[in-house]
Amino acid sequence: MPKILIPTPLRQFTAKENSVTVPGATVGEALDALAARYPDLRQQLFTPEGKVRSFVNVYLNDEDIRYLGKTATPTAEADTISLVPSIAGGAAVAAPSEAPALSNEEILRYSRHLIIPEVGMEGQQKLKAAKVLLVGTGGLGAPLGLYLAAAGVGRIGLVDFDVVDFTNLQRQVIHSTKDVGRNKIDSAAEKMLAINPHISISRHDVALSSENALDILKDYDIVVDGTDNFPTRYLVNDACVLLGKPNVYGSIFRFEGQSTVFAHEDGPCYRCLYPEPPPPGLVPSCAEGGVLGILPGTIGLIQATETVKLILGIGEPLVGRLLLYDALGMRFRELKLRKNPECPVCGAHPTITRLIDYHQFCGVPRQQAAPAQEAKVNEGEIDVTELKQKLDRGDKFVLLDVREPHEYKIAKIPGAKLVPLSEFASHVGEFDKNAEIVVHCKMGGRSAKACAIMRQAGFANVRNVVGGITAWSEKVDPSVPKY
Ligand SMILES: [Zn+2]
Repeated sequence: MPKILIPTPLRQFTAKENSVTVPGATVGEALDALAARYPDLRQQLFTPEGKVRSFVNVYLNDEDIRYLGKTATPTAEADTISLVPSIAGGAAVAAPSEAPALSNEEILRYSRHLIIPEVGMEGQQKLKAAKVLLVGTGGLGAPLGLYLAAAGVGRIGLVDFDVVDFTNLQRQVIHSTKDVGRNKIDSAAEKMLAINPHISISRHDVALSSENALDILKDYDIVVDGTDNFPTRYLVNDACVLLGKPNVYGSIFRFEGQSTVFAHEDGPCYRCLYPEPPPPGLVPSCAEGGVLGILPGTIGLIQATETVKLILGIGEPLVGRLLLYDALGMRFRELKLRKNPECPVCGAHPTITRLIDYHQFCGVPRQQAAPAQEAKVNEGEIDVTELKQKLDRGDKFVLLDVREPHEYKIAKIPGAKLVPLSEFASHVGEFDKNAEIVVHCKMGGRSAKACAIMRQAGFANVRNVVGGITAWSEKVDPSVPKY
């Protein structure tokens, strides 16, 4: 019987199992048996028509089943089937016509590079001439920025419009406690220049968008994707394909990471792997699902290694291979990636020939600058101040908390009943359809989904708490810790 490896984002539907053995003479039969055993998983994996959803890639051993017999691919006893969903975490650089000379100070600094024959003086000059853009100066951008600066990459561009927050410090080691509240690019640039004053840094203090991406990316040799959201990932991918720039990709979630190099000459791009993003909210972000602080260090440094190899033109680049890292098992696995001839952006007949509206494409709203407490209250919603008044008046209603038990232990709103979203559907029947129901989570995203489930089940009076327990902590009771 084949073994199916379940990735972290889908384990909430498999009773936390990370590997399941099921009967099945073909991949399709095995997936069907898996979905039969875990019914909640079925709608995540399959469309209503029974097709495997396009944001999940299915591998038999190290081959994508799209290039084997699809779901009809026969399986053998010892086979491993991997489900690889998309998660929110280059051509060799042309030799510079005039290689920049190194000063005596630089020669001393880069001594340990210069004595490696594969790098040498010529390699170090290539590094000095190279222009690398880091999209994001967060978890992945932090080790990337520090090490690429130290290695002597001559010009490093930083794109970020965010400010340093206390919750960043657990992993974004380029920022210090005293930087909280500062612009991330200023904080990052300061650390990088402190390590290596011989490099130059270009600051792009903007949100990368369809309007500015081509203009920003065009000046760089290599783009390194350290973003944390799907719209920017697709934007970076498409812009890199259109400009013919290599895209060094990394993504992280909890204990797992992925890395590869996209858009490298004949190599595949991100859309070859994932033509479409997952439905909004299905794959949680690190803010929602968490991430081990060390994990972006590991993945960011794999990206940094690939970047330096591409600049030097040495070694075997991570092209056409998706590297999967599991920190808990301390295992690396590698899957083959192929260029999809029908890829909408890099295929033979592309349908995407210019940048599109990526927020619309991914079905997620643009990141709002306004803090949660100023969010508008729409129909079907309630703000935390009104919720407090209702609780103080002793109104008769049911307050549900759809976060996970370990989050409930960190902070809770008194009187809330915990029903985690992962098991919500099976508990909906326990509530009175005529009761007034108020639902909250951490920020309001998961509770909005719970409200939708209840309304679909016939509940008429359901409201979602805008901003969740975070807004409660900010506006009503600061003694409730924010996390
Ligand atoms: Zn492609």
